[in-house]
Amino acid sequence: MSVFDHAAYDKHEHVAFYHDVKSGLKAIIAVHNTNLGPSLGGCRMWPYANSSEALTDVLRLSKGMSYKSAMANLKLGGGKSVIIGDPRKEKTADMMLAMGDFVQSLGGKYISAEDSGISVSDLKTMSQRSDYIAGTQAAYRYDGGPADGNPAPSTAYGVFMGLKASVAYGLKTDLNGVSVAIQGLGHVGYRLAEHLHNAGAKLYVTDIYPDNLEQAKQQFNATVVSPDEIFALDVDVFAPCALGSAINDQTIDQIKARVIAGAANNQLAEERHGQALKDKGILYAPDYVINAGGVIDIYHQRQGSSAQALREHLEGIGETLNEIYRKAEQQGLPTNIEANKIAEQRFLMKG
Ligand code: NAD
Repeated sequence: MSVFDHAAYDKHEHVAFYHDVKSGLKAIIAVHNTNLGPSLGGCRMWPYANSSEALTDVLRLSKGMSYKSAMANLKLGGGKSVIIGDPRKEKTADMMLAMGDFVQSLGGKYISAEDSGISVSDLKTMSQRSDYIAGTQAAYRYDGGPADGNPAPSTAYGVFMGLKASVAYGLKTDLNGVSVAIQGLGHVGYRLAEHLHNAGAKLYVTDIYPDNLEQAKQQFNATVVSPDEIFALDVDVFAPCALGSAINDQTIDQIKARVIAGAANNQLAEERHGQALKDKGILYAPDYVINAGGVIDIYHQRQGSSAQALREHLEGIGETLNEIYRKAEQQGLPTNIEANKIAEQRFLMKG
């Protein structure tokens, strides 16, 4: 497994590997860029087939965080961590403590938050060993409701606002009666489904686990489909809310939706897929722009600002997307490339 010449290495400042034999923890922390501030990004636990797959994931995710924070105007850099293992079967408290030690060893260059497979209580365990764990407590939620530190409600609200703006821009309509296919009904996908249902959208949902599907059927009158069927549905919007690379050579041919707007990180298997979507006349909401709500939430909690300030920041995601769509159209560029240009101007400025 190579690191410096890895296809996703792309000027990472620091990549660290850690194996704690006692707890069985095998983890990687990747710090992409710290020009704007310390790197902040979630910790993901996933049953990667091998360490090479885990490295590719963490490098792509941490780079995405540099773009995400810069685009959301946060004084933070990009970083991410991954733990190799099945969170449903292999996670232990000792492993989380060892992960805390690992984060601490970077001396604040990387601040960890949650991602897929890691909960607020896991972060609390890590924080027993590290001063650099975010998202363990929150003073408020964006809507004034009680908060537990989980940023998923903010992420889902930001995705909802971004999806609404994308539908208004691309389909010239509001959400009432618009059909949306959601891939992945986890922390964010389920909450997004609730916002969309309340706005009058018709929902199609899928997940690889049945946990939330039946509830979505009952609560939101959603139509449940299999994971393979979700791409080819005759819907207005496709919302990828599972893991990365949902948009690839195989799925692009199947997608009938005119708008893609969802929570997942790294939705495009490769950057060139942004051009392929443009060629098909599909409006793509760049993932790190639309899903920035979680990091925006953590940033506001750390700054000690108000629920109102957080909510306004989240609602600004719609206008940021509009600006990208307008500029991309003027330049004849795919939306992902236009977004990259804007973000790079911000975080490479000092480089
Ligand atoms: P989650 O683990 O709670 O939910 C993901 C869901 O997707 C799970 O229910 C899982 O079973 C399902 N899934 C996995 N593979 C699938 C497949 N092939 N087909 C259908 N369903 C599948 O994670 P989450 O916190 O909801 O995050 C979802 C995505 O959004 C991730 O890509 C994450 O990186 C990204 N994201 C999350 C946040 C946040 O605040 N939680 C912030 C920004 C980005």
